Amino acid sequence: MKTLNDFNFKDKKALIRVDFNVPLDADFNVTDATRIQAAKPTIIKILEDGGSCILMSHLGRPKGVQEEFSLKHIVNKVEDIIGVETQFVSDCVGPEAEKAASNLEPGKILILENLRFYDEETKGDTAFAEKLAKLGDIYVNDAFGTAHRAHASTTIIAQFFPEKKCFGHLLEQEIKSIDKVMKTGEKPVLAVLGGAKVSSKITIIENILDKVDHLIIGGGMTFTFIKAQGGSVGDSICEDDKMDLALDILKQAKAKNVQIHLPVDVLAANAFSNDADTQVVDVTKIPDGWQGLDAGPKSKAIFHDVVMKCKTILWNGPLGVFEMESFANGTIELGNSIAEATKNGAFSLVGGGDSVAAVKQFGFENKVSYVSTGGGAMLESLEGKTLPGIAAILE
Ligand code: AMP
Repeated sequence: MKTLNDFNFKDKKALIRVDFNVPLDADFNVTDATRIQAAKPTIIKILEDGGSCILMSHLGRPKGVQEEFSLKHIVNKVEDIIGVETQFVSDCVGPEAEKAASNLEPGKILILENLRFYDEETKGDTAFAEKLAKLGDIYVNDAFGTAHRAHASTTIIAQFFPEKKCFGHLLEQEIKSIDKVMKTGEKPVLAVLGGAKVSSKITIIENILDKVDHLIIGGGMTFTFIKAQGGSVGDSICEDDKMDLALDILKQAKAKNVQIHLPVDVLAANAFSNDADTQVVDVTKIPDGWQGLDAGPKSKAIFHDVVMKCKTILWNGPLGVFEMESFANGTIELGNSIAEATKNGAFSLVGGGDSVAAVKQFGFENKVSYVSTGGGAMLESLEGKTLPGIAAILE
């Protein structure tokens, strides 16, 4: 696996795919610079070697050239965060981009205009990738958020740098964190899967049964498993057509010696509303007109004990409807347990879909070992897929 440390960038132009798809407010100010911060170690290493950085990214989903999606809006923010003069060129390929790239001096940064102003980017067009490739000497992929896409700048471009391509620090960390859970994790290994639906997590569950010792299933998924086993779930979210699948998962888990922990009680509400009446009920005896929206106290205690005895923990998906304060507590307490286990030496990885939002909202970001920067890319990794952006560097 080739990383930044395999290269000396002195007098080299590094062409870096970053994920600067950051949120902007109505005045085009960056409202969350996490992704720019995340790329900093890679950029700094290259500049310190004596090289220069040509940064390419997409921003939003423009249809052709649309001013509001221009990466010029983020140039000042990048300059602030990296602390180095940062230039911008209003195209990502062609004569203007080539001129800016060739004039770029060591120690400086150049940001190219939004890659997705060209349809060829998402189509994975080879000729477009070749034009991009002309701009740099070494290709660095540091964009985990788009590593599951076979786009021109994330995957196709790598073929033009047969010996001169590598992962940036961020992508390297993402790969190592996933491997720590899926391949080399210290036992016991635990996965906590929450969220809304079994159907969206099924491939992950099936893949993960071969890797873990314990599996906590929470959130809306719970009720498909409970109903499948004969419980009454009232008006809780439930996928009746996935009940056979749920039973099959329980069977597979048994055969593979994986202990599955489902909630035993839930906080049920008489409406899907923060102000609804609530009661704690047995998860198998939810009355009609009531729906389980969060883990109950006994479940939280059981989950705490499981978390505390595990040495490797993966967390994907909230344990309840965390967006509503009344039903956020199960997710918060789970976060507290994982933070405590991490403090005691466990490795914890949070990622995929909504989990990162929950972790940030409740301030667990710095209390777990690693928070993944990729939603879809993380989910596909957990499903056991090889991401095209990663494969292209390894080839
Ligand atoms: P996912 O993107 O699959 O991780 O699902 C996240 C969503 O699951 C969040 O928006 C939660 O509100 C939702 N969720 C979690 N628990 C429940 C539940 N018991 N009933 C309905 N939705 C839930």
